Amino acid sequence: MCESLESDIEIQAETIRRPLTWQQELADAIRDPDLLIDRLGLPDALRVGARRAAELFPLFVTESFLQRMRPGDPRDPLLLQVLPLAAETDFPPEFTADPLEEASAHQAAGLLQKYAGRALMISTGACAIHCRYCFRRSFPYGDEPRRLADWEPAFERLRGDASIREIILSGGDPLMLSDARLSAIVARLDEIPHLDRLRIHTRLPIVLPSRVTARLIELLRSTRMTPILVVHANHPAEIVSDCRDALRLLVTSGLTVLNQTVLLARINDAVEPLAELSLRLINAGVIPYYLHQLDRVSGTAHFEVSESRGGALIEELRSRLPGYAVPQYVREVPGEQHKVPLA
Ligand code: SF4
Repeated sequence: MCESLESDIEIQAETIRRPLTWQQELADAIRDPDLLIDRLGLPDALRVGARRAAELFPLFVTESFLQRMRPGDPRDPLLLQVLPLAAETDFPPEFTADPLEEASAHQAAGLLQKYAGRALMISTGACAIHCRYCFRRSFPYGDEPRRLADWEPAFERLRGDASIREIILSGGDPLMLSDARLSAIVARLDEIPHLDRLRIHTRLPIVLPSRVTARLIELLRSTRMTPILVVHANHPAEIVSDCRDALRLLVTSGLTVLNQTVLLARINDAVEPLAELSLRLINAGVIPYYLHQLDRVSGTAHFEVSESRGGALIEELRSRLPGYAVPQYVREVPGEQHKVPLA
């Protein structure tokens, strides 16, 4: 074989072996319900409802998350978190677009305050997965800041209120921001002397583990504020392979990582998956923080589990797990000064 052909082959092999960046994985995410159904070999009967429901809230799922689903199983607990279903087009009147009344918590463009001492920035409307039960599936993200300059009123408001000690980056998912944008926002927050803690609510380490890069960790470790990550996993089958490695990396890098789970019918409303989820989180160094009662958002009624069932599950978890592995079972009630404990 001639030398140049040999080196061409080496270059190609290198290109093939190189893992995708998180941005490339996002670009390749599945958006088409028919493609998802084909990839997993699911029944054709799901197609019509999936297409209709996806018109209300588009499908979006990463390859990494899809790889953790069981092919051919329409009841797979990870699939049910992302597959649009005809049931989403039922609208019982008690399920509304803004059940948490977040519109009334607006302090400035992109800034909400619900609780004393903490404020929340809607840092982006983008996510790496569209969770069908999402409490912000109808949120008017288009009204929120896009350019860094658009955040000035929010920074001004934060600077002027010394009672705010913790800033929460939410969304959407704040880790969808580029490192440069995230770094610029954190730098501005670092300049506000009374902010002690930076909390980041993100599902990316779970659904797009390649987002956990050395550069991201360095960014999070270099802030003057104490960083806290709150990830979001609902089922133990999520905490495997690259996801488990990403969580371990965050924890061993010295970051505090908590998890919140939403209690979801047919996905995790039994003691076995909840107990196993807690144990896998603990084994990865992540603290199970909250088990949330579903927020009553339009299109999500089929996910609801009764509070009495949730309370019974927590009792069973207490009898099986060490106390630090049992999450607090809570619901958010508009106007309350904190999450309301349910058990
Ligand atoms: S990642 Fe969070 S904000 Fe995004 S769709 Fe899921 S629950 Fe909603």
